[in-house]
Amino acid sequence: MKKRNTILLLGISAIAILVLAQIIIIRGILKQNHEMLYLRYRLLSQEAIASLRRQYRVDVYDTVRFILNDYSEKVAAELPLIKDEEELNRKKSEILDYFTVTLNQEEYLSDYLSAYFERMGVEKDFISRIEIRNLEIISTDTFPIIRTFNFFGKPPPEPGGPDPGISRRNRAPAEGGITAASPGIYPAGGTRLLVERRGLEDNYYSLFFEFFIDFSDKQKMVLQASSASLAMSLFSLIIVVAIFMFTYKNLMEEKRLSGLKTDFINNMTHELKTPLATITVAGKTLEMERIRQDDAKVLETAKLIGKQSIHLNQLINMILEISMWERTEFQLDRKKVPIEEVMNDIVNSFRIGPGNSATLTTKYNFNGLEAGIDLVYFITMINNLLSNAVKYSVKDPVINIEGYTADRKIFVRIADNGIGISKSDQKHIFEKFYRTSSGNIHKFKGLGLGLYYVKKIATAHGGDVTVSSKPGKGSIFTVTIPY
Ligand code: ADP
Repeated sequence: MKKRNTILLLGISAIAILVLAQIIIIRGILKQNHEMLYLRYRLLSQEAIASLRRQYRVDVYDTVRFILNDYSEKVAAELPLIKDEEELNRKKSEILDYFTVTLNQEEYLSDYLSAYFERMGVEKDFISRIEIRNLEIISTDTFPIIRTFNFFGKPPPEPGGPDPGISRRNRAPAEGGITAASPGIYPAGGTRLLVERRGLEDNYYSLFFEFFIDFSDKQKMVLQASSASLAMSLFSLIIVVAIFMFTYKNLMEEKRLSGLKTDFINNMTHELKTPLATITVAGKTLEMERIRQDDAKVLETAKLIGKQSIHLNQLINMILEISMWERTEFQLDRKKVPIEEVMNDIVNSFRIGPGNSATLTTKYNFNGLEAGIDLVYFITMINNLLSNAVKYSVKDPVINIEGYTADRKIFVRIADNGIGISKSDQKHIFEKFYRTSSGNIHKFKGLGLGLYYVKKIATAHGGDVTVSSKPGKGSIFTVTIPY
């Protein structure tokens, strides 16, 4: 039990480690594919922007630039007149909003990118967003509206880097500036792609912003790109788990069989010891002077020795037979015999022999059939079933034997009123050495071989044996043999 648990624990741990390793690998692959995708779109975007400027010699922000300059001229005149701090901040906020809305509404880079992506045969649907990083209104004085990052003093962060982090870290507003409203439309976790950083300047303003795009179904795209690796990894995992389960099951089966064998050896030893002990005692008895004087006692003891020797011999023959059956193919010596007569002979011998305590009823319907069977094995088979019917009963045994033919098959049904067999045991009783737990209590002696033989003999004849039983009620064994 302890060993079994250790194996199970080791196996499960190994699989858990494997799953963990696979998760790490898959995460790596997903990350790599994500980055590849990111890089690919970044390159494509750069190509698109370059081609736009090369081909049309326009800037996508030309319209924006004019609108913003007109607006800035107006606010540049207003700003120096505002004295109230609160009022000034409100105005700045309004300016920032206007810039943001205008930039996002009037740019046409996103349309151009989308068309370019389509032409390149890649995903064209994305969300775009411009975020202002630096904005100053130039009047008699310079009015900082927002200053979240010192783009010119410090090197700009690597494209594709965690820009939300950077902007947050550097969001401390400069004196007189205000913080930018946080962009709400993006999924968290930096899945958006920075396409470009741009500065725009005119008479009345200086502006610096970042243009982002975000693929709404990017995760799906990444998953698609990784699907082969994912499938392979899942497949290999399934195989490993299946192999483990198969090996474990086999191991348990081996253990069970070895347990059955040990039981068998114990039972066998017990079976052998009983006649041997009787013979030893009988021998000792014969040594006694008093007994030797009494002819009747000598004869009785000699008979007892003879009987026990025969029993011992039978047991030894059985062991020899088992090992022979295991080593050689089952050879049948088939001869045509009248089945009904054979059945009558078996039952009659049984009635006066081991079954003398039982009530036996028979009902045959063989219509004088002669079938080719191995007589010796057939007798062994029916005898084993009859012996069990008597052996496994706690009250007076009543055994009903029925025989008939149907579908070119011989049916022999042996029904008893014995202790019955539970459903879980029924699955195993035909296995070699198998004994039910009640069978192991030495009240019912046995080696767990009787039904194993029955099954072997029936299948060697091309037939089968089945059981139906209810614990406490009795059992019905049915042998079928084709003819
Ligand atoms: P053995 O009788 O030597 O134990 P068998 O192979 O003949 O071995 O039977 C296997 C087990 O099936 C027995 O241990 C017993 O528990 C159960 N069994 C067999 N026949 C009967 C029966 N007629 N009624 C109840 N239990 C039975």
